[in-house]
Order: sequence, then C-alpha cells, then structure tokens
Amino acid sequence: MREQLLALEELAKSDLAWRQIDVELADVDAHLVATRSDVDRIRDLLERERQQLTEAQRLKQTHVDEIATIDEKSIRSKKRQEVARNNREMEAMNREIEVLKREREERTAEAARLEEVVVAVGTQLKAHEADFKGLTDMLATEESEAVQSREALLARKALHQGARKELTGKVRPEILRIYQIVLNRRGTAVAECKDGICRGCYMATPPQLYNVMLRAEKLIQCPNCQRILLPPNLSR
Ligand SMILES: [Zn+2]
Repeated sequence: MREQLLALEELAKSDLAWRQIDVELADVDAHLVATRSDVDRIRDLLERERQQLTEAQRLKQTHVDEIATIDEKSIRSKKRQEVARNNREMEAMNREIEVLKREREERTAEAARLEEVVVAVGTQLKAHEADFKGLTDMLATEESEAVQSREALLARKALHQGARKELTGKVRPEILRIYQIVLNRRGTAVAECKDGICRGCYMATPPQLYNVMLRAEKLIQCPNCQRILLPPNLSR
C-alpha cells in the first residue's frame, strides 16, 4: 500500500500543478478582457466628446449667423434713420438701433463663450485620443504576449497530461476511482495526516484509525472530508 500512497502523492502534486496552469490561463484571459474594456471605455468617451464638440461648433455658428443678420438689419435701420421725416421716426429708429446693438453684444459674448468650450473640448479630445492610442498600442503588445503565454501554458499542460497518464498507470483502478471522486468533490484528493489531524479539513481523526493509517498498510480516508490520508514523511 505504501507504494500506492506514494503514487497518489505524486499524482496529487501533478494535479495541483495542472490546476495552477488553468488558474494562470484564466488570469491571462481576464487581464485581456480588462484591457479591452478600458479601450471600449475610452472609445465611448471619445465619441461623446466628439459629439459635444460638434454641438458646440453648431451652436456657435448659429450665433455667428445671427450676428450677420443683425448687422444687415442695423444697416437698414441706419439708412431709414437718415431719411426720417420727423423726431418721432428718428427716435423710433434710435431705439431699434439700440436694441440691435445690445442683441449683437449678447450674441458676440455667447459666441466667444462657445469658442472657449470648443477649444477646451478640442484640447481634451486630443489628450484622450493620445490616451486611446497608447491603450490600443498596449493592448496589441499584450495580446501578442498573451498568445505566447497561452501557447507556453498549453504546452506545459500537454506535458502534465502525459505525466498524469504515467502516474495513473501506477495506481490500482479501484484506488484511482476513489481518488477521482474525492478530487472532483473537494478539489484535492489526498491530505497529510499529522498528529491525528487531517491537513485537508483540519479535523481530528479517531486515534485507532490514525494508528492504522500511520502503518500505511491500508487505504484510509478522512471520516470528515473523505480525502485519502497520507502518513507524514511518507516519501522519506
Ligand atoms: Zn479531512
């Protein structure tokens, strides 16, 4: 039985390493997903800023157009003022010119304010476009690195699969069946049992069972977690 237990210990180590490879593979993929979502976020931000810029430019243009219309109206009012027949008409034209002048000032101020917005958003957009370029470049590098890591991990996994076949060949089928059931249920199938404590679930084993287990003559499973118990220093 000692040899069977030794083979199980080896198998457990191999399975743990195999599991580690899967964890690393998942890490590589998760990192890529995170970077891609950063790229998407910046792309959305850029799109919103472009829309903001277009909208500010459009609004500013309506004010500029309106100023041109006001200027035309002012010229007409001044011409009518020149041909005014009496004071009443003259004053009416004065008021009209005054109103147009105030409106022109308001429109000019608003156009200037919008020009500031256009400049500010434009600057922000340039900075974010640079960020975006940096991120997409980084993603391209990471993607090619991830592909390489994946290939290396898959190669290691293939190696482990070969090694596992060899290790399982050393274990008797009925023992391997128990090992596989516990592995599927618990994630690990063997546990060292030291000072009467199962190191898989940290529960005490009955003293009599512990003594039998120490002799390594029978396959003993933890009564609590069902892991196959290994005596301490089995391989020494
Ligand atoms: Zn246990």
